[in-house]
Amino acid sequence: MTVLIRGARPYGEDAADILLRDGHVAAVGGSLSAPDAEVVDAAGLVALPGLVDLHTHLREPGREDAETVETGSRAAALGGYTAVHAMANTDPVADTAGVVEQVWRLGQQAGLVDVVPVGAVTVGLRGERLAELGAMADSAARVRVFSDDGMCVADPALMRRALEYVKALDGVVAQHAEEPRLTTGAQMHEGDRSARLGLTGWPAAAEEAIIARDVLLAGHVGARLHVCHVSTAGSVEILRWAKSRGVQVTAEVTPHHLLLTDECAEGYDPVFKVNPPLRTDADVAAVRRGLAEGVIDAVATDHAPHAVEDKESEWAGARPGMLGLEQALSVVVATMVETGLLDWRGVADRMSVRPAAIGRLETHGRPLAPGEPATLLLLDPAARAVVDPAALASRSRNSPYAGRELPGRVVHTFLRGVPTVTDGKATR
Ligand SMILES: [Zn+2]
Repeated sequence: MTVLIRGARPYGEDAADILLRDGHVAAVGGSLSAPDAEVVDAAGLVALPGLVDLHTHLREPGREDAETVETGSRAAALGGYTAVHAMANTDPVADTAGVVEQVWRLGQQAGLVDVVPVGAVTVGLRGERLAELGAMADSAARVRVFSDDGMCVADPALMRRALEYVKALDGVVAQHAEEPRLTTGAQMHEGDRSARLGLTGWPAAAEEAIIARDVLLAGHVGARLHVCHVSTAGSVEILRWAKSRGVQVTAEVTPHHLLLTDECAEGYDPVFKVNPPLRTDADVAAVRRGLAEGVIDAVATDHAPHAVEDKESEWAGARPGMLGLEQALSVVVATMVETGLLDWRGVADRMSVRPAAIGRLETHGRPLAPGEPATLLLLDPAARAVVDPAALASRSRNSPYAGRELPGRVVHTFLRGVPTVTDGKATR
């Protein structure tokens, strides 16, 4: 299959034609011609390497009523993603080679993005003993990211042992940083607003204490640590300190923590209930700055689909989590690009290059250059649209952006030269 993309702006820079042939970029330049090619008019569209998500909940196996590998893959492709890491808190938990291979195969069958399974750190996410990390790493799924996400690996001795194991596997532990003894019954960010609304608070210190502990452990062991969904200004300062000391730590921030604050809890609408919770204006400013400076390495969605009965209830009874895949790039455009904090190369770095490196994905996050995989997206940065949850490809509807106008529309996505999204529609 040969595709000639006409007049795109690679990384938002000068217009160029991009020729895709046999799954690779064959040429980038002015006025290319290829008589056999299918032509895509991309005038005004920004070309970026396909996005890589380090943190996606696909819910299969176990909660196929909320999402499946196929519906989540479709949502991902529509968001400009070409690879997603599928979190391990499924039912059964992805804590064996068998389950991670099942998820990996389902991803291959869906064929819209590379679904990269995350392996659980501990058996059943129970935080008691280590799962079969080596068997998952050696499986067909080639697991390199291990996480009990949803739960924190709270026992420091177990966390130390997990870091020692993943070091030998060239892997990384992705920690959901939450000291459970400080968040019992927590419903929202702990502060003036939680007191006024009468909801139990989730203090910033519960996140920061675990990050501080874990960067010390990672430094001591000499292993790689990745911190999931950083949400507080204090966390950014701890990461800055750790990186300045040479600790091999990376971190992600979610689109919702870049845009939304605890003010959203005022109406008690559970669509805004999430873990870690939405924080303050000052925290939002700090995580944006941290992402701009590279102290936070990546944007990761924490896409968390929930069935209606789990989300449309009283605040206290609702499950935490929100959709993210289809709007992530738009939120980054709104919060980072239109504010001047990141240019398009910066977006490519934080949403493709660095997450691919953290996950050890060799064929993602590559430059838009001849010889490289034809894995990319084309974005209309000028388009603006109001988010309609009913129009989403996800099986769930819990989007915190419902009714909000956001910039940027993914028009085309290619995975190894094969179109997965054409004119804003999934190809399968
Ligand atoms: Zn989490």
